[in-house]
Amino acid sequence: MQNSRKEHLYKILVIGDLGVGKTSIIKRYVHQSYSTNYRATIGVDFALKVLNWDSETVRLQLWDIAGQERFGNMTRVYYREAMGAFIVFDITRPTTFEAVTKWKEDLDSKLTLSNGKSIAAVLLANKCDQGRDVFMNNGMKMDQFCKDNGFVGWFETSAKENINIDKAANCLVKYIIASE
Ligand code: GDP
Ligand code: MG
Repeated sequence: MQNSRKEHLYKILVIGDLGVGKTSIIKRYVHQSYSTNYRATIGVDFALKVLNWDSETVRLQLWDIAGQERFGNMTRVYYREAMGAFIVFDITRPTTFEAVTKWKEDLDSKLTLSNGKSIAAVLLANKCDQGRDVFMNNGMKMDQFCKDNGFVGWFETSAKENINIDKAANCLVKYIIASE
């Protein structure tokens, strides 16, 4: 058949503590822009990123939690039908890294795929333009952390300097497509 590009639509969650850079990462990835103040509106924002993936089209619907992260957990309804997640922390604030496992547990406790597995999650160590913290200097430790906590990978990112965001997204998409 002609013009039969296969299409995928994936709901992707972007979660993590307030101020880690979730909105900035989405704006950078989808709109190629960066600003130092995005209002923490209450509610959910969506952004759509379209990728040409070999001969297929991938639409990523990115869900930004916009203000609700201050309450520390999300409702099941919010997580429903997501296919992947970015969990973000800020390398300059250790407490946001400590919160990563809480976010991952919250996600996995409220959402599993029809095959019983947890959804693909990639860990983003954001604001890497600010230097590296002690923990980050040890990449092997991060690899082990990902293994222990069920992340498919991790990336140092900067929304400000546009570092590794495309790479991280490709990693997530690759994993989702391969497991479909
Ligand atoms: P959110 O609450 O997780 O959505 O975080 P925001 O995207 O609103 O970002 C919080 C603050 O961190 C803002 O002032 C951003 O400009 C700043 N920020 C976000 N990403 C980066 C980054 O990669 N590097 C630096 N230096 N600052 C960032
Ligand atoms: Mg935000």
